[in-house]
Amino acid sequence: MSIIHVVSVSGGKDSAATLLLAIERFGTDRVRGIFCDTGNEHQAVYEYLHYLEQATGVVIATLRANFQNEIASKRVFIARDQRTRRKYATQPVFDAAGQAVPKRDGRGNIALDKKGKPIQKTIKVGGGERVRWTNKAKRRALAVLHPSGNPFLDLCLWKGCFPSRKAQFCTEELKRNMAVEYQLGLIERGHSVVSWQGVRRDESLNRRNAKKYEAVGGGLHIYRPLVEWSAADVFAYCASKGIKPNPLYTQGMGRVGCMPCINANKPELKQIGQRFPEHISRISGWEARVLAASKRGGATFIPAENGGKFVQNAPAHAAANDIYAVIEWANTSRGGKQFSLLTALDEPTACASSYGLCE
Ligand code: SF4
Repeated sequence: MSIIHVVSVSGGKDSAATLLLAIERFGTDRVRGIFCDTGNEHQAVYEYLHYLEQATGVVIATLRANFQNEIASKRVFIARDQRTRRKYATQPVFDAAGQAVPKRDGRGNIALDKKGKPIQKTIKVGGGERVRWTNKAKRRALAVLHPSGNPFLDLCLWKGCFPSRKAQFCTEELKRNMAVEYQLGLIERGHSVVSWQGVRRDESLNRRNAKKYEAVGGGLHIYRPLVEWSAADVFAYCASKGIKPNPLYTQGMGRVGCMPCINANKPELKQIGQRFPEHISRISGWEARVLAASKRGGATFIPAENGGKFVQNAPAHAAANDIYAVIEWANTSRGGKQFSLLTALDEPTACASSYGLCE
């Protein structure tokens, strides 16, 4: 049984450095690169991966999720949906003294949650809404619910919405599941797998406790060699190996991933709007299609800021928050209350890298 070192390569600096480290320690024969293609990528990513392959001699396998079966099942479900149930909003019940009234089961015993705490009684309010798809929504959804062959779009058509910060299913469905499937395939063929991940603790709060090594079991191990590195360390290491960074870093992108990512910040969105309008136009087309496939007719790629707070993907805001409205907001000055002409006139050709690569 041999050990295979699998490096997930995204086209960004951290995964490039991780690939180089793996090759330095184990040579090209025992290292495999994988790229989970979301279908929402900039052309520069594909070109950079080709460059990495040429420069390192490691083949980077492209993995693309396929949601044909899920979409076919959803079409059948929508077409047959005859549910008669209604979904009601509820409100908690309090007694005259303002104390929470506990919920009771059929025998009069107080109902408890998983932690053993009493569950508060609730009552239905309003007339409720139909659970089933209306005939109008069925016709609208079935007209667009066909696989496009693009993993990101097909995932959103299947789900009937775009991923959000609260429900970031894109990472799981388009990247994690694909990488795990690939690694399990190697294990089934009798190998042990070390999954190399280019994660740094200083990247975000979520990653501040990232472990350097984890034994998952069943022949799978996780190794994160960069946990203690800074972004500057990563760029310096790649440069010492003669590897250039992805050019997107010199074009205002703080990170390289989807174009755009649902987590893109305001300055990144501004840069994308100015430099890559074709991607905004593509997302706008996706919004129209996913909106038609959604039961309630709501789908917004990135919720726009409203009075200093992000509005989540609520259908009520969908029409006002399309991607062009978000880009317009990204061009506003702090607070987003007014549109800044000076900001709009910024030359997008100047280096705006948040890593100061060209300084
Ligand atoms: S989190 Fe962002 S980069 Fe990751 S898959 Fe979702 S949209 Fe793409």
